[in-house]
Amino acid sequence: MKLLLAVILPALATAAAAQSFTVGTARAERGQAATGAIEVPAGTDPGTSIPVVVVNGARRGPVLAIVSGAHGTEYASIIAVERLIGRLDPAQVSGTVILVPLVNRASFDQKVVHVNPVDGKSMNRFYPGRIDGTQTERASYLITREVVARCDHLIDLHGGDLDESLRPYSYWTPTGRAEQDRVSREMVLAFGLDHIIVSADRPQDPAASRYLENTATTRGKPSLTAEAGHAGTVEPEDVEALVHGCLGVMRYLGMLAGPVEMVRNPVWIDRVLTVTSEEGGIFYPLVKRGADVTEGMTLGYVTDFFGRKVFEARSPAAGVVLYVCSVPSMTKGGTIANVGVVRTGS
Ligand SMILES: [Zn+2]
Repeated sequence: MKLLLAVILPALATAAAAQSFTVGTARAERGQAATGAIEVPAGTDPGTSIPVVVVNGARRGPVLAIVSGAHGTEYASIIAVERLIGRLDPAQVSGTVILVPLVNRASFDQKVVHVNPVDGKSMNRFYPGRIDGTQTERASYLITREVVARCDHLIDLHGGDLDESLRPYSYWTPTGRAEQDRVSREMVLAFGLDHIIVSADRPQDPAASRYLENTATTRGKPSLTAEAGHAGTVEPEDVEALVHGCLGVMRYLGMLAGPVEMVRNPVWIDRVLTVTSEEGGIFYPLVKRGADVTEGMTLGYVTDFFGRKVFEARSPAAGVVLYVCSVPSMTKGGTIANVGVVRTGS
Protein backbone atom coordinates (compact mmCIF):
# COMPACT_ATOMS: atom_id res chain seq x y z
CA MET A 1 0.00 0.00 0.00
CA LYS A 2 2.78 2.36 0.92
CA LEU A 3 4.55 1.49 -2.29
CA LEU A 4 1.38 2.14 -4.31
CA LEU A 5 0.87 5.60 -2.74
CA ALA A 6 4.45 6.48 -3.44
CA VAL A 7 3.79 5.73 -7.08
CA ILE A 8 0.42 7.48 -7.27
CA LEU A 9 1.18 10.68 -5.34
CA PRO A 10 3.78 12.11 -7.72
CA ALA A 11 1.39 11.37 -10.60
CA LEU A 12 -1.40 13.27 -8.84
CA ALA A 13 0.92 16.15 -8.12
CA THR A 14 1.87 16.33 -11.79
CA ALA A 15 -1.80 16.32 -12.82
CA ALA A 16 -2.57 19.14 -10.37
CA ALA A 17 0.37 21.16 -11.65
CA ALA A 18 -0.91 20.74 -15.20
CA GLN A 19 -4.18 22.31 -14.09
CA SER A 20 -2.55 25.51 -12.88
CA PHE A 21 -1.36 28.29 -15.18
CA THR A 22 1.41 30.73 -14.29
CA VAL A 23 2.43 33.99 -15.95
CA GLY A 24 5.09 35.99 -14.16
CA THR A 25 4.16 35.80 -10.47
CA ALA A 26 0.45 35.14 -11.18
CA ARG A 27 -0.39 31.47 -10.68
CA ALA A 28 -4.04 30.42 -11.01
CA GLU A 29 -5.41 26.96 -10.39
CA ARG A 30 -8.11 25.70 -12.75
CA GLY A 31 -11.35 27.53 -11.99
CA GLN A 32 -9.57 30.46 -10.31
CA ALA A 33 -8.11 33.86 -11.14
CA ALA A 34 -4.81 35.23 -9.86
CA THR A 35 -3.03 38.57 -10.03
CA GLY A 36 0.70 39.21 -10.18
CA ALA A 37 3.36 40.87 -12.28
CA ILE A 38 5.88 40.28 -15.00
CA GLU A 39 8.98 41.59 -13.27
CA VAL A 40 11.39 43.23 -15.70
CA PRO A 41 14.83 43.28 -14.06
CA ALA A 42 17.08 46.32 -14.10
CA GLY A 43 19.74 46.37 -16.79
CA THR A 44 21.43 49.37 -18.37
CA ASP A 45 18.38 51.29 -17.08
CA PRO A 46 15.85 50.64 -14.26
CA GLY A 47 13.54 47.65 -14.12
CA THR A 48 9.74 47.77 -14.15
CA SER A 49 6.80 45.70 -13.00
CA ILE A 50 4.03 44.91 -15.49
CA PRO A 51 0.71 43.88 -13.89
CA VAL A 52 -0.80 40.61 -15.13
CA VAL A 53 -3.97 38.64 -14.39
CA VAL A 54 -4.54 34.97 -15.18
CA VAL A 55 -8.18 33.83 -15.41
CA ASN A 56 -7.88 30.05 -15.51
CA GLY A 57 -11.30 28.80 -16.61
CA ALA A 58 -13.10 25.92 -14.97
CA ARG A 59 -13.07 23.99 -18.25
CA ARG A 60 -10.34 23.35 -20.80
CA GLY A 61 -10.04 25.50 -23.89
CA PRO A 62 -7.69 27.82 -25.74
CA VAL A 63 -5.37 30.38 -24.17
CA LEU A 64 -6.20 33.98 -25.12
CA ALA A 65 -3.93 36.90 -24.25
CA ILE A 66 -5.45 40.41 -24.04
CA VAL A 67 -2.87 43.19 -23.78
CA SER A 68 -3.16 46.98 -23.59
CA GLY A 69 -1.21 50.03 -22.51
CA ALA A 70 1.89 49.67 -24.68
CA HIS A 71 1.11 53.35 -25.06
CA GLY A 72 0.24 54.33 -21.51
CA THR A 73 -1.94 57.32 -22.35
CA GLU A 74 -4.30 55.42 -24.67
CA TYR A 75 -6.59 55.29 -21.68
CA ALA A 76 -9.81 53.81 -23.08
CA SER A 77 -8.00 50.58 -24.02
CA ILE A 78 -6.40 50.30 -20.57
CA ILE A 79 -9.72 50.86 -18.81
CA ALA A 80 -11.34 48.30 -21.13
CA VAL A 81 -8.95 45.60 -19.84
CA GLU A 82 -9.63 46.73 -16.26
CA ARG A 83 -13.35 46.20 -16.97
CA LEU A 84 -12.64 42.75 -18.39
CA ILE A 85 -10.66 41.83 -15.27
CA GLY A 86 -13.74 42.64 -13.20
CA ARG A 87 -16.11 40.92 -15.58
CA LEU A 88 -14.50 37.53 -16.30
CA ASP A 89 -15.69 34.77 -13.98
CA PRO A 90 -13.39 31.69 -14.13
CA ALA A 91 -16.43 29.48 -13.52
CA GLN A 92 -17.89 30.65 -16.85
CA VAL A 93 -14.69 30.43 -18.90
CA SER A 94 -13.41 27.53 -21.01
CA GLY A 95 -9.67 27.90 -21.40
CA THR A 96 -7.40 30.56 -19.97
CA VAL A 97 -7.24 34.34 -20.38
CA ILE A 98 -4.02 36.24 -19.75
CA LEU A 99 -4.78 39.94 -19.19
CA VAL A 100 -2.02 42.57 -19.27
CA PRO A 101 -3.74 45.95 -18.75
CA LEU A 102 -0.71 48.25 -18.72
CA VAL A 103 2.57 47.43 -20.43
CA ASN A 104 4.03 50.94 -20.28
CA ARG A 105 3.87 51.96 -16.64
CA ALA A 106 6.20 54.96 -16.97
CA SER A 107 4.16 56.42 -19.84
CA PHE A 108 0.96 56.10 -17.78
CA ASP A 109 2.52 57.50 -14.60
CA GLN A 110 4.22 60.45 -16.28
CA LYS A 111 1.54 61.08 -18.96
CA VAL A 112 4.06 60.76 -21.78
CA VAL A 113 2.67 59.98 -25.25
CA HIS A 114 3.84 57.32 -27.75
CA VAL A 115 7.01 56.14 -25.99
CA ASN A 116 8.41 54.70 -22.80
CA PRO A 117 10.05 57.76 -21.18
CA VAL A 118 12.71 55.52 -19.60
CA ASP A 119 14.38 54.83 -22.96
CA GLY A 120 12.41 56.90 -25.47
CA LYS A 121 11.19 53.82 -27.38
CA SER A 122 7.69 52.85 -28.49
CA MET A 123 6.63 49.74 -26.59
CA ASN A 124 5.01 48.33 -29.74
CA ARG A 125 8.01 48.44 -32.08
CA PHE A 126 10.77 46.37 -30.46
CA TYR A 127 9.39 42.82 -30.45
CA PRO A 128 10.41 40.10 -29.92
CA GLY A 129 12.76 42.09 -27.68
CA ARG A 130 16.08 41.22 -26.07
CA ILE A 131 17.01 40.58 -22.46
CA ASP A 132 20.24 42.61 -22.76
CA GLY A 133 18.53 45.67 -24.27
CA THR A 134 16.95 48.79 -22.75
CA GLN A 135 13.79 48.59 -20.60
CA THR A 136 11.41 48.50 -23.60
CA GLU A 137 13.41 45.69 -25.19
CA ARG A 138 13.65 43.70 -21.95
CA ALA A 139 9.91 44.11 -21.32
CA SER A 140 9.19 43.04 -24.92
CA TYR A 141 11.43 39.98 -24.49
CA LEU A 142 9.61 38.92 -21.32
CA ILE A 143 6.15 39.56 -22.80
CA THR A 144 7.16 37.42 -25.79
CA ARG A 145 8.33 34.62 -23.47
CA GLU A 146 5.62 34.84 -20.78
CA VAL A 147 2.58 35.87 -22.81
CA VAL A 148 3.01 35.32 -26.56
CA ALA A 149 4.72 31.94 -26.26
CA ARG A 150 2.04 30.73 -23.83
CA CYS A 151 -1.07 31.80 -25.74
CA ASP A 152 -2.94 30.42 -28.75
CA HIS A 153 -4.44 33.80 -29.68
CA LEU A 154 -3.63 37.41 -28.81
CA ILE A 155 -5.58 40.66 -28.88
CA ASP A 156 -3.55 43.87 -28.62
CA LEU A 157 -5.65 46.90 -27.68
CA HIS A 158 -4.74 50.48 -28.56
CA GLY A 159 -6.53 53.75 -29.25
CA GLY A 160 -5.98 57.36 -30.12
CA ASP A 161 -3.23 58.78 -27.94
CA LEU A 162 -3.49 62.19 -26.18
CA ASP A 163 -2.75 63.89 -29.51
CA GLU A 164 -4.90 61.64 -31.71
CA SER A 165 -8.62 62.03 -32.38
CA LEU A 166 -9.37 58.50 -33.60
CA ARG A 167 -12.42 56.61 -34.85
CA PRO A 168 -12.47 52.91 -33.79
CA TYR A 169 -11.02 50.26 -36.09
CA SER A 170 -9.26 46.92 -35.98
CA TYR A 171 -6.42 45.38 -37.96
CA TRP A 172 -6.43 42.06 -39.76
CA THR A 173 -2.98 40.69 -40.65
CA PRO A 174 -3.17 38.02 -43.37
CA THR A 175 -0.16 35.71 -43.58
CA GLY A 176 -0.83 33.56 -46.64
CA ARG A 177 -1.44 30.58 -44.33
CA ALA A 178 -5.06 29.81 -45.20
CA GLU A 179 -6.28 28.26 -41.95
CA GLN A 180 -4.62 30.86 -39.71
CA ASP A 181 -5.98 33.65 -41.90
CA ARG A 182 -9.51 32.22 -41.80
CA VAL A 183 -9.48 32.15 -37.99
CA SER A 184 -7.89 35.59 -37.55
CA ARG A 185 -10.34 37.10 -40.06
CA GLU A 186 -13.29 35.61 -38.19
CA MET A 187 -11.83 36.87 -34.90
CA VAL A 188 -11.75 40.39 -36.34
CA LEU A 189 -15.35 40.06 -37.55
CA ALA A 190 -16.40 38.67 -34.14
CA PHE A 191 -14.66 41.60 -32.43
CA GLY A 192 -17.26 43.73 -34.12
CA LEU A 193 -15.62 47.01 -35.13
CA ASP A 194 -16.98 47.99 -38.54
CA HIS A 195 -13.75 49.44 -39.99
CA ILE A 196 -10.97 46.90 -40.60
CA ILE A 197 -7.48 47.74 -41.83
CA VAL A 198 -5.84 44.92 -43.81
CA SER A 199 -2.21 45.15 -42.73
CA ALA A 200 -0.38 43.20 -45.39
CA ASP A 201 2.95 44.96 -44.91
CA ARG A 202 3.93 43.58 -41.49
CA PRO A 203 7.32 41.80 -41.13
CA GLN A 204 7.17 38.03 -41.81
CA ASP A 205 10.24 37.17 -39.74
CA PRO A 206 9.39 36.03 -36.16
CA ALA A 207 12.83 37.24 -35.06
CA ALA A 208 12.05 40.77 -36.30
CA SER A 209 8.31 40.97 -35.67
CA ARG A 210 8.39 44.57 -34.29
CA TYR A 211 4.72 44.69 -33.19
CA LEU A 212 3.18 42.63 -30.39
CA GLU A 213 0.32 41.24 -32.46
CA ASN A 214 2.74 40.45 -35.25
CA THR A 215 4.91 38.54 -32.78
CA ALA A 216 1.97 36.19 -32.17
CA THR A 217 0.94 36.17 -35.84
CA THR A 218 4.41 35.24 -37.13
CA ARG A 219 4.43 32.39 -34.59
CA GLY A 220 1.31 30.92 -36.19
CA LYS A 221 -1.22 32.22 -33.65
CA PRO A 222 -4.36 33.84 -35.12
CA SER A 223 -4.47 37.31 -33.49
CA LEU A 224 -5.66 40.87 -33.97
CA THR A 225 -5.14 44.49 -32.96
CA ALA A 226 -8.02 46.87 -32.20
CA GLU A 227 -8.13 50.59 -31.46
CA ALA A 228 -10.78 52.76 -29.80
CA GLY A 229 -10.62 55.90 -27.70
CA HIS A 230 -9.26 59.32 -28.42
CA ALA A 231 -7.33 62.24 -27.04
CA GLY A 232 -7.08 61.17 -23.41
CA THR A 233 -10.78 60.52 -22.94
CA VAL A 234 -12.43 57.44 -21.44
CA GLU A 235 -15.76 57.56 -23.27
CA PRO A 236 -18.14 54.72 -22.33
CA GLU A 237 -18.82 53.84 -25.98
CA ASP A 238 -15.11 53.42 -26.72
CA VAL A 239 -14.46 51.31 -23.62
CA GLU A 240 -17.56 49.22 -24.26
CA ALA A 241 -16.61 48.65 -27.91
CA LEU A 242 -13.31 47.09 -26.79
CA VAL A 243 -14.85 45.09 -23.93
CA HIS A 244 -17.65 43.86 -26.20
CA GLY A 245 -15.06 43.00 -28.86
CA CYS A 246 -12.95 40.85 -26.54
CA LEU A 247 -16.04 39.04 -25.21
CA GLY A 248 -17.20 38.49 -28.81
CA VAL A 249 -13.86 36.90 -29.71
CA MET A 250 -14.06 34.70 -26.60
CA ARG A 251 -17.50 33.47 -27.70
CA TYR A 252 -16.15 32.83 -31.21
CA LEU A 253 -13.27 30.79 -29.74
CA GLY A 254 -15.69 28.79 -27.58
CA MET A 255 -14.32 30.27 -24.35
CA LEU A 256 -17.67 31.79 -23.32
CA ALA A 257 -21.21 30.57 -23.97
CA GLY A 258 -23.51 32.62 -26.14
CA PRO A 259 -24.20 33.45 -29.77
CA VAL A 260 -21.38 34.68 -32.00
CA GLU A 261 -22.23 37.88 -33.83
CA MET A 262 -20.01 38.77 -36.77
CA VAL A 263 -20.01 42.34 -38.06
CA ARG A 264 -21.78 42.47 -41.42
CA ASN A 265 -20.45 44.43 -44.37
CA PRO A 266 -17.46 46.00 -42.64
CA VAL A 267 -15.49 48.76 -44.33
CA TRP A 268 -12.22 47.14 -45.47
CA ILE A 269 -9.25 49.50 -45.65
CA ASP A 270 -6.38 48.36 -47.87
CA ARG A 271 -4.01 51.29 -47.43
CA VAL A 272 -3.36 53.87 -44.72
CA LEU A 273 -1.86 57.16 -45.87
CA THR A 274 -0.10 59.28 -43.27
CA VAL A 275 -0.30 63.02 -43.88
CA THR A 276 2.55 64.94 -42.24
CA SER A 277 3.24 68.63 -41.76
CA GLU A 278 5.96 70.33 -43.74
CA GLU A 279 6.19 73.10 -41.13
CA GLY A 280 6.13 73.35 -37.37
CA GLY A 281 3.70 75.68 -35.59
CA ILE A 282 0.06 75.69 -34.50
CA PHE A 283 -2.30 73.10 -36.02
CA TYR A 284 -5.95 73.82 -36.78
CA PRO A 285 -8.00 70.77 -37.90
CA LEU A 286 -10.78 71.18 -40.46
CA VAL A 287 -12.08 67.60 -40.34
CA LYS A 288 -13.23 65.29 -37.58
CA ARG A 289 -12.31 61.67 -36.93
CA GLY A 290 -14.28 59.32 -39.13
CA ALA A 291 -14.99 61.96 -41.76
CA ASP A 292 -15.18 60.89 -45.40
CA VAL A 293 -12.78 62.98 -47.43
CA THR A 294 -12.08 63.44 -51.13
CA GLU A 295 -8.69 63.65 -52.81
CA GLY A 296 -7.21 67.12 -52.35
CA MET A 297 -9.62 68.12 -49.58
CA THR A 298 -8.08 70.32 -46.88
CA LEU A 299 -7.67 68.37 -43.63
CA GLY A 300 -6.32 71.29 -41.63
CA TYR A 301 -3.67 73.97 -41.63
CA VAL A 302 -0.64 75.10 -39.67
CA THR A 303 0.17 78.71 -38.73
CA ASP A 304 3.28 80.30 -37.31
CA PHE A 305 3.05 81.92 -33.88
CA PHE A 306 1.84 85.19 -35.46
CA GLY A 307 -1.24 83.57 -37.03
CA ARG A 308 0.15 83.39 -40.56
CA LYS A 309 -0.73 80.22 -42.45
CA VAL A 310 2.48 78.32 -43.26
CA PHE A 311 1.12 74.95 -44.38
CA GLU A 312 -2.12 73.50 -45.63
CA ALA A 313 -2.63 69.72 -45.37
CA ARG A 314 -4.59 68.06 -48.14
CA SER A 315 -5.79 64.49 -48.37
CA PRO A 316 -3.65 62.51 -50.84
CA ALA A 317 -6.63 60.30 -51.74
CA ALA A 318 -10.32 59.78 -51.12
CA GLY A 319 -10.92 57.89 -47.90
CA VAL A 320 -11.90 58.00 -44.26
CA VAL A 321 -10.10 60.00 -41.55
CA LEU A 322 -8.91 57.26 -39.17
CA TYR A 323 -7.45 59.88 -36.89
CA VAL A 324 -6.52 63.53 -36.96
CA CYS A 325 -4.17 65.44 -34.67
CA SER A 326 -6.20 66.59 -31.68
CA VAL A 327 -3.88 69.27 -30.28
CA PRO A 328 -2.40 72.54 -31.60
CA SER A 329 1.22 71.37 -31.11
CA MET A 330 2.69 70.57 -34.52
CA THR A 331 6.28 69.83 -35.45
CA LYS A 332 7.84 69.67 -38.88
CA GLY A 333 7.26 66.08 -40.00
CA GLY A 334 4.58 65.54 -37.32
CA THR A 335 1.46 63.54 -38.18
CA ILE A 336 -1.59 65.58 -39.14
CA ALA A 337 -3.87 62.67 -40.01
CA ASN A 338 -4.10 59.07 -41.12
CA VAL A 339 -6.45 58.55 -44.06
CA GLY A 340 -7.69 55.05 -44.83
CA VAL A 341 -8.32 54.13 -48.46
CA VAL A 342 -11.48 52.07 -48.57
CA ARG A 343 -11.69 48.93 -50.68
CA THR A 344 -14.27 49.12 -53.40
CA GLY A 345 -15.89 46.00 -54.79
CA SER A 346 -15.38 42.70 -52.97
ZN1 LIG B 1 -1.06 52.49 -29.24
